Amino acid sequence: MTATAPREEQLWSRCAGCASLLYRKRLRRNLDVCPECGAHARLGAPERLRQLVDPGSLCPLPDRLPEADPLDFVDVLPYPHRLTGARASTGLAEAVVCATATIGGHPAALAVMDFRFLGGSLGCAVGELITRAAERALDDRTPLILITASGGARMQEGVLSLMQMATVSQAIAALREAGLLTVSILTDPTYGGVAASFATNTDLVLAESGARMGFAGPRVIRQITGRALPEGFQTADFLLRHGQVDMVVQRRSLRARLMALLAATRAGRPARPPVPRQEPASRHDRFAADDVAVTRPAGPVVCPAVADTPAVRDAWDTVRMARHPGRPTTLDYLDSVFDGFVELHGDRLGADCPAIVGGVARLAGRHVMVIGHQKGHTTAELVARNFGMASPAGHRKALRLMRLAARLGLPVVTLVDTPGADPGVSAEEQGQAAAIAENILTLTVLPTPVLAVITGEGGSGGALALAVADRVLMLENAVYSVISPEGCAAILWPDRSAAPQAARALRLTAPDLCRLGVVDEVVPEPSSAAHDDPAETAHRLRAALLANLLPLLDVPPAMLVRLRRQRFRRFGANRSGVQAGRR
Ligand SMILES: [Zn+2]
Repeated sequence: MTATAPREEQLWSRCAGCASLLYRKRLRRNLDVCPECGAHARLGAPERLRQLVDPGSLCPLPDRLPEADPLDFVDVLPYPHRLTGARASTGLAEAVVCATATIGGHPAALAVMDFRFLGGSLGCAVGELITRAAERALDDRTPLILITASGGARMQEGVLSLMQMATVSQAIAALREAGLLTVSILTDPTYGGVAASFATNTDLVLAESGARMGFAGPRVIRQITGRALPEGFQTADFLLRHGQVDMVVQRRSLRARLMALLAATRAGRPARPPVPRQEPASRHDRFAADDVAVTRPAGPVVCPAVADTPAVRDAWDTVRMARHPGRPTTLDYLDSVFDGFVELHGDRLGADCPAIVGGVARLAGRHVMVIGHQKGHTTAELVARNFGMASPAGHRKALRLMRLAARLGLPVVTLVDTPGADPGVSAEEQGQAAAIAENILTLTVLPTPVLAVITGEGGSGGALALAVADRVLMLENAVYSVISPEGCAAILWPDRSAAPQAARALRLTAPDLCRLGVVDEVVPEPSSAAHDDPAETAHRLRAALLANLLPLLDVPPAMLVRLRRQRFRRFGANRSGVQAGRR
């Protein structure tokens, strides 16, 4: 709804659905649902909370975090200016409001996103606040309710905003383990990194009437596929038809529906804490989890390779290097770095995605599960592999192989090289967002060593779906980013020709990400680049894999999972130096 004129702003609104001019008070009484056509207008977080929780029960959680501009990001405006503007126009500290409250007498922790604040984008502060709300739910043993409204990850915080998908997902995983209900309510719109993490990896997913949710936005999909989109694409009813949400709920019924769900799950809640999860049988069983002290430096990880090698290449040149068609692919590395690869196919649900290859192999005589994106060198190979862009079937195949590895006590090595997940109509129909979200969550609890290597392009959620790992390595000329430089330029600059500037602003190179602690080690490439000397690249990658994997084999699985969670927990706003009051 937009105001008709500044002076009448408080009095009248025009419906975005049917263009009726509506008396503001009448509209508010109707919960901001148009009485003429039923269109649900977007709600700010404070109003949403007012509509849902019991009067007088709301107890806001702290919303002020240390200022964070981890990248010193500047597009046409410096990022801090955009933050200041958003705060002034919304009266909110950030794009989420968190609270505890009761709903029909049932206690819950809530995190409500507000689209008015920089498009509800997920940055470090938002991730930290939602994570704390989840931790509060765990402490209080209450359900967690997430109400999403977001365009996706916050580009101005680069790959650190991508890490928030893992941070919040592991907090949801902890609630799952504790037997506590998590509910997400999709409101319009919910896209990108939020859709591909906590909006869809909760126990229950409700969609408010008229809400749209998807991994890739409709404009991007239209641009890439050149096809018209099906009627009602990504709307709540579409999501219900495709099995992606539990129900579509009218706003006026939302509170009652939540009350019923909370009542049902409260009745069934175990009186005692659940039995700890069984670890897989392995040689690690002879250790108690706490017997082996494994320490990780608390501060930023220092990369020896970076310290020795000054960053000489411009970020945009590195992007082009990472995309070079001659660059070794996952299958090349499976041939040159590993021995005896046996490929395993299929998601067991109806498809086998060619953009993901996986299977068992040996690394210096040790058995491992290798999963990676496969591109190709020729146009025909690239087309056959969908340019390394995994479909939901690919992510589900990867999930199956990760779980299998954990059951068999095999370490997982992932090789990440993708422009991003498949931005297509059928990928959305088949639940792209939820497939990625489930992989991210599963990796945060996988009881076996996970070693990820960004070998070429690490593109957004599609890359993270294979990269929540104990150690993350990156080839010297690889890139890892929350969005492509071209995509970022199209949104934050006047046009896509600003891609080189966006590439620099995003801090997507290996030395930058090492400094930010996202990557643990840079694997140097031969003097020119990987594609000029694949054999030497393979030799170096093999040495780096062994050096990083062998120490992990001695860590008991429970300890591994704990350390992995600590690794991703530190990407919240805490990283700017001020410790949160908790844990
Ligand atoms: Zn209307």
